[in-house]
Amino acid sequence: MPLLDDYKDMVGQSVIEELRVLSEHLKGASIKNVNSTAVGGGVAEILHRMVPLLRELGLDARWDVIKGGERFFQITKNIHNALHGADASVSADDFEYLLETNRSNFDNIACDCDVMFIHDPQPIGLVENKGREGQKWIWRCHIDLSVPKKEVWDLLKPYVERYDSAVFSAPVFSPELSIRQFLISPSIDPLSEKNRELARDEIERALSPFNLDLEKPMIVQVSRFDYLKDPVGVIESYKIVKENIDCQLVLAGGTATDDPESEIVLEKVREAAADDPDIHVLLIPSGSDTIINALQRAASVVMQKSLREGFGLTVTEALWKGKPLVASAVGGIPLQVKHRYHGLLCHSVEGAAYAVKQFLNSPEFGARLGENGREHVRHNYLLTRHLKEYLLLFIAVRHDADIITL
Ligand code: UDP
Repeated sequence: MPLLDDYKDMVGQSVIEELRVLSEHLKGASIKNVNSTAVGGGVAEILHRMVPLLRELGLDARWDVIKGGERFFQITKNIHNALHGADASVSADDFEYLLETNRSNFDNIACDCDVMFIHDPQPIGLVENKGREGQKWIWRCHIDLSVPKKEVWDLLKPYVERYDSAVFSAPVFSPELSIRQFLISPSIDPLSEKNRELARDEIERALSPFNLDLEKPMIVQVSRFDYLKDPVGVIESYKIVKENIDCQLVLAGGTATDDPESEIVLEKVREAAADDPDIHVLLIPSGSDTIINALQRAASVVMQKSLREGFGLTVTEALWKGKPLVASAVGGIPLQVKHRYHGLLCHSVEGAAYAVKQFLNSPEFGARLGENGREHVRHNYLLTRHLKEYLLLFIAVRHDADIITL
């Protein structure tokens, strides 16, 4: 696993030095992350890299995963969808069940660290353990909260306000709250297996099991099989493109352990794809990082046609690889993509198809936007910037200080 010094070439020596200086203020401090899945999705993706780097910097960083049964994950999925503004209902009984499940985790998840860093709604009830003097609780929300279903947000909000602080990924996600808020965008790790440079033969080797034609224009969307990622909409866009341009579509993704809906979505995708041999639906197991890297690099165009999105790490990954990108203007995507400068934003099936055709018809245009996108990610969305902001956050909450005056 890469060490901090390995990032020097990419971000510069001073960035690494700055991390070391900041971490001096936190030596030995214990930070506990809690989320709901060890694999699948953006939160797990980041924690896999963030926790070891915090440890390298001398913090006692830990990571626990909350456990729950089928009903718990159905409820948390409904909460997730409702907070994103989608149609899903959560009753007071459901929320009580979520809290009960949190309570049944009290014995496995010791809430004894200096900073309790709780990710997303699933483990939100752990805050009932708050009480130790000097301990700080932070709720780290990765969801777009700009238009939540009010009745569901009303259930959650009193719990959020029991925390000392909350962190959101983008300014538009931040709601009215009585507690302090911080804005910290997520990031990708440029040295991870998913993002490192790959030679052409490595790409070919990684994709050899999938019967793809690497000479034919390839549209790729990598995402969990989730309604909100709109995989069926991607197929509809592809079909419009296909009327004019011979191309293939790859929909690659897995199923997260905290998502009970993914099997149904996958079934719908397979139905929509059934009669076209140029549509490749790849169910890839978690940890298929080389495959994802190779697919994104082999793509002529990367799509992210989500109906709702958190920050959208797959977009960051594609931009970092310099790829022509067509993505919906939802969630954190417009923060990452300035239309016609870093990629093309879309608002419909037809709009997405039109944008894909533009790129397939003009590779130079795609290459230019891809290059802009890569630089944007280099300056704003790499792991080292994220690590620095987490260190500043921990210092700020522990000292009740203002992050700007540090
Ligand atoms: N991802 C993965 N395997 C999959 C689907 C997605 O490893 O089958 C990764 C993807 O490359 C990205 C993250 O999971 O790093 C997804 O983060 P994003 O913010 O795009 O969406 P989320 O799944 O958190 O809604």
